[in-house]
Amino acid sequence: MRSPLLRINVNWLLRQRLVIIVLTCALSVTALLWQHEKANANHELRAALDFHVRDFSARIEQRLVSYEQLMHGVQSLFATSIAVPQNDFSEYVKNLQLGANFSSMEALGVVWQVTAQQENSFIQTAQLEVAKDFHIHPEGLRPSYALVQRIEPGTEESARMLGLDMSLDSTLQAAMERARDSGVMAVSGKLESAMSGHANPQSCFMMYLPVYKKDRPLETIAQRRANLDGWVFAEYKVNAVLATLYGETPPLIHLQIYDGVDVRADNLMYDSAPSQAMHPTPLQLTEYIVSGGHTWAVVMHPLPGFASHLGRDQSTLIAFGGSVLSILLALMTWQLVSGRERALTLARAMTRDLRESEARFRYLAQYDELSGLPNRAMFRDRLQQAIAQAKRDKARLALMYLDLDKFKPINDQLGHHVGDILLRAAAERMQLCVRESDTVARIGGDEFVILLPLIETDYDALRVAEKIRCALAESFAVAGGHVLTLSVSIGIAIYPEHGESDVTLAKNADIAMYKAKEKGRNQVCMYDALL
Ligand code: GH3
Ligand code: MG
Repeated sequence: MRSPLLRINVNWLLRQRLVIIVLTCALSVTALLWQHEKANANHELRAALDFHVRDFSARIEQRLVSYEQLMHGVQSLFATSIAVPQNDFSEYVKNLQLGANFSSMEALGVVWQVTAQQENSFIQTAQLEVAKDFHIHPEGLRPSYALVQRIEPGTEESARMLGLDMSLDSTLQAAMERARDSGVMAVSGKLESAMSGHANPQSCFMMYLPVYKKDRPLETIAQRRANLDGWVFAEYKVNAVLATLYGETPPLIHLQIYDGVDVRADNLMYDSAPSQAMHPTPLQLTEYIVSGGHTWAVVMHPLPGFASHLGRDQSTLIAFGGSVLSILLALMTWQLVSGRERALTLARAMTRDLRESEARFRYLAQYDELSGLPNRAMFRDRLQQAIAQAKRDKARLALMYLDLDKFKPINDQLGHHVGDILLRAAAERMQLCVRESDTVARIGGDEFVILLPLIETDYDALRVAEKIRCALAESFAVAGGHVLTLSVSIGIAIYPEHGESDVTLAKNADIAMYKAKEKGRNQVCMYDALL
């Protein structure tokens, strides 16, 4: 059988394990839900970002197409003749009514390809028709030039660009050659203030559209090179272009535009939030815009708050709520299992108490609590059995009634508890004076009875009674240093002479005991019917 301590430990371990299992399961479900929600939110975030980056790139492409259309108008104007009067060109540009959409355009003009042989006549014509001080800059003899011949708006700044040889700038030269060879619009790479002279250099780009000699074949690259007159060009500041898209840029998104496909700091043309760190984030999306034979990389990543702006990510709520619920569930489980255990322990204790009470009740029904001797009820049983046996055996038995003399004063003088000790000691001595087959019982305060079931003669009973009287007369050492002696009055009745029933026998033994009292106590009296 397992010890209670071992059982308690085992139960406690089982309960603890159950609570841990419940907590682990609940937390696992929370973690799964959290992960699922996080994945969903990430997916939606990526989808939203993807939509924004595509939408935004499409808007830029549209804007570039509208720029190109504008340049086609100028292209057709110059395709008919190089000799478009300056005023006509200015008027034409004015009539275009460049609205807000073109406010990002820094300059619109014409670049003419001039060979060293044509240089002088070109300058003379330009001085006549464009500006009196038209001259080539930077100066120097070169086999050919790409000279700015017309430029609008006619500001002081743009006027300084007249006569500029754009072929000296490799970025511009590359774009012009691309336009020339392809016959379509070409966009240049990133320029820091395209044509120098800008007070605050900003990222710019140029768009070129080739102008060929009228009615010449343009099928091959060689033909297009041979028949080129010049280019219509337009210069745009990237910031200004993006500013025209203001209001169309998605909120809470960091937007960067890089020249080419390389996302490198020195290729950066536009940054919507320069103060933000440029480190790549896991949710960074890149879209490429290809226009005029040139590529831009549009990079987008969400700024803090974009996810909550979408209002979809409930993962934090799930993680927090799930953890709290898991702990509550574990606590409830603990309460349930330990409550059941407490109820069982209580039931066990109650059952044990009940059994103990029952046993005690049974004991008290038969025994005297103070002395441990059989009580009146049990004694009566034994007496009846002994009489029945004696009747069968035609034998004799003796019944003694004993009452301690003057016991009350002992109680009164030394206290009840000393009286109790004395009663117990007297009971023990009485038992020592009889055989095992005899019964000593306590039937009242200082009253005892003794059954001697096997006696031959009256003398046997008198001898035992005398022995008891003498034994009690010997001193008792009780608590508190008191030394006491007892005397006892004893009455004897013999079966069958003094009664054949237990009642008669008991009555007569009692009468005999009272006779002993009357005679002065401390003596033994045999029942005598004549007295
Ligand atoms: P007597 O010689 O006439 O018998 O005088 P007594 O003082 O012994 O008087 P009695 O037998 O009538 O009274 C018995 C006394 O025993 C009364 C009570 O004080 C005492 N007594 C009864 N039961 C108990 C008990 O359980 N414990 C103690 N300590 N005393 C008891
Ligand atoms: Mg008495």
